[in-house]
Amino acid sequence: MQHVTLNNGVRMPILGFGVYQIPADRTEQAVSEALAAGYRLLDTAAAYGNEEAVGRAIGSSGIPRRELFVTTKLWIQDAPAEANARRAFETSLTRLGLDHVDLYLMHQPYGDVYGQWRAMEAVNREGLAKAIGVANFYPDRLLDLILNNEITPAVNQIETHPFFQRPADQALMREHGVRHQAWGGFAEGRNELFTNPVLAGIGEAHGKSVAQVVLRWLVQRGIVTIPKSVNPDRMAQNIDVFDFELDHDQMSAVAALDTGTTLFFDHRDPEMVAWLSQRRLDG
Ligand code: NAP
Repeated sequence: MQHVTLNNGVRMPILGFGVYQIPADRTEQAVSEALAAGYRLLDTAAAYGNEEAVGRAIGSSGIPRRELFVTTKLWIQDAPAEANARRAFETSLTRLGLDHVDLYLMHQPYGDVYGQWRAMEAVNREGLAKAIGVANFYPDRLLDLILNNEITPAVNQIETHPFFQRPADQALMREHGVRHQAWGGFAEGRNELFTNPVLAGIGEAHGKSVAQVVLRWLVQRGIVTIPKSVNPDRMAQNIDVFDFELDHDQMSAVAALDTGTTLFFDHRDPEMVAWLSQRRLDG
């Protein structure tokens, strides 16, 4: 496994396992299978409703905690956001059954972002979250957060796949030492990604699947990726991307697939802001 070093010196695997949309009652098995397949980075969130199941799989794995990299995420908090974010973090730790997480992300760029970030800075200083970062921040909001706070986010986890490649976002993140992490690396299969002829052609040249080509392309861009699968064969396939390389022409062919627009939702769309902002988690 290849690793990246975050802006505070923390080492992070460049490829991990995401558990969004895995039902809570299937998550323990899926995470156990992922750990058995060799994944060491796990990406969950309070909003996914499966932190406890992730924690159970970690607990029964027998893998030393120091070999794992666990990410969870803070959902939008009611006022007072700082105190509530602290409580939410502690609830996540309890659900996971851990005494620290490796990365704590602000899940959405909404609400009292500054209050939430101050609480995250505190848990980072106390060593309870080895690194802190954000998700779904467009460059303007990310730069504002960087310029007006003490700790620069270590990571920004954003929708990134062959149809929405985010080169300008990545350039800004590079400039400020923020690691680009992809969510939805396969676009959840939208736009017929898994049968795309360009990606399939590159796969044929290497004896690899479209999924492997996409993950390899992300890795070569220095982007941390967290494919989700509940299928052990696909889990094994998705982590097997370190024995081949896309050449310059193949990287350019994938670059040409970029449409520059989201396949999911635009976090700057007022309807999305209203829809996501009204959601609150229990507990
Ligand atoms: P994704 O990884 O792009 O796609 C997952 C889909 O691809 C599933 O339907 C899966 O089906 C299928 N798949 C996986 N491997 C495959 C393979 N080798 N061949 C064919 N199909 C394959 O989608 P995602 O789960 O949305 O994104 C990944 C992770 O990013 C999430 O799990 C979550 O941790 C994170 N995320 C974060 C945010 C955020 O707001 N921060 C938003 C979305 C996601 P099977 O399971 O049936 O294999």
